[in-house]
Amino acid sequence: MTIQNVVVAGGGVLGSQIAYQTALKNFHVTLYDISDESITRSKKRVDSLFPDYQADTGLTEEKFAAGLKNLNFSTNLANAVQNADLVIEAIPEKLEIKQAFYQQLSKVAPDKTIFASNSSTLTPSMMVKDVDRPAKFVNLHFANRIWLFNTAEIMGTPQTAPDTIETLTKFARAIGMVPIILKKEQPGYVLNSLLVPFEIAALKLWATGIADASTIDKDWIISTGAKMGPMATMDIIGLRTPYYVGLEYLKTHDDPVSKLTMQKMKEMIDAGHSGKDDGQGFYHYPNPEYLDPNFLK
Ligand code: NAD
Repeated sequence: MTIQNVVVAGGGVLGSQIAYQTALKNFHVTLYDISDESITRSKKRVDSLFPDYQADTGLTEEKFAAGLKNLNFSTNLANAVQNADLVIEAIPEKLEIKQAFYQQLSKVAPDKTIFASNSSTLTPSMMVKDVDRPAKFVNLHFANRIWLFNTAEIMGTPQTAPDTIETLTKFARAIGMVPIILKKEQPGYVLNSLLVPFEIAALKLWATGIADASTIDKDWIISTGAKMGPMATMDIIGLRTPYYVGLEYLKTHDDPVSKLTMQKMKEMIDAGHSGKDDGQGFYHYPNPEYLDPNFLK
């Protein structure tokens, strides 16, 4: 099967990137979100990708604009998916929200449509019972800053057809990604199996007042040669995603330090300090301390 028409559901941090990258590579893309307000936010997010594309990939303004021409927006799921070959779901990382979405999607999508979830922590087996086509359901997981960190982790259930994996492997390459195919289901795939315990450890150091965010990042960067520390990374991801991941983690790690860490994150999110997109997270934007040439001194 060849993919031509793609719907991205959810135009948040990742959905806006997936939609734009796919449109840039000449697919017909519709970005679906739940309300006019969220579509307005999604359009702003997409437009704001230009400086990063330009700085990281040398994309010109004309080429960026050409990509935008392949991108439409919709708040009507049935209309958006009526001719979709592929729906990539990038809605909030909460199982109940995803389950309701897949039940609704199954009712309105044509038989040919492949469903792919960009979930960071939920396995496809956790959502497959809400899907009417298990052979055409798979997780397709992108990393934040998709144009630069261009992996596409592909992870099916035992019911996913080999054809579906093959189609998505080709699609991933066609939009400039390196496909990473997992042989079995693993919560967090390869990347987040490494990243989540690391971020939780960093948050605990911050929440318990052992070190502030910039100190944690400096130590990590200087000592390992990494380009960025965990706190800045979370600002860029947006704090809501690690927060939802943390709520899952609390179910099995209900200790006082974990509870305090989640409470402090909730305070930041409630105050509107959810990271780079909000202009404030652990750092202040657009000129965060970690971009200062003297940061590591
Ligand atoms: P986000 O909160 O920035 O955006 C979510 C978007 O979904 C919002 O625009 C919201 O209006 C919309 N939405 C909410 N309910 C919806 C529904 N029922 N139907 C359609 N749209 C709906 O979230 P995000 O950070 O972009 O994460 C989205 C998904 O991508 C999650 O599953 C997350 O695990 C995954 N992901 C995130 C990152 C990251 O770095 N942020 C990286 C990889 C994967």
